[in-house]
Amino acid sequence: MTAKLKTSLFCLHCNKETSHTIIYRGRYLEEVKCNVCGNEIRIDREKLVETYTSDFIDRVLTKPHRLTKEMKQDLSQFLKSLPIRILTKPYRIAREIEDVLSEKEDKKQEKTRQEKRRIEEIKEKGKKDN
Ligand SMILES: [Zn+2]
Repeated sequence: MTAKLKTSLFCLHCNKETSHTIIYRGRYLEEVKCNVCGNEIRIDREKLVETYTSDFIDRVLTKPHRLTKEMKQDLSQFLKSLPIRILTKPYRIAREIEDVLSEKEDKKQEKTRQEKRRIEEIKEKGKKDN
């Protein structure tokens, strides 16, 4: 069972407090998404358990009856301090992959441009030869 909650939290990418969607799967927080930049944090629960005490997890990451101001602060603090290995989809890496892909796309376009230019040259040459 999943539950979605909207709240304002600190976004590392926007570098300010923004509107977020928090998704709980079962009892535990699984995903936090910034509604402004779309930055998404997924939390690997196994690694979480290795790193944090169950007290902490219960306090900060289990589905609340009511999201209090203290909980929001805890959650923001938690997100800021989150070690990258706990995230199943670290934003930074996702971004790097994106960059590599767009670079490839650029090169492809450059190749296409070169080919077009060559075709143009051949056409021009053909005209001259005739
Ligand atoms: Zn953001």
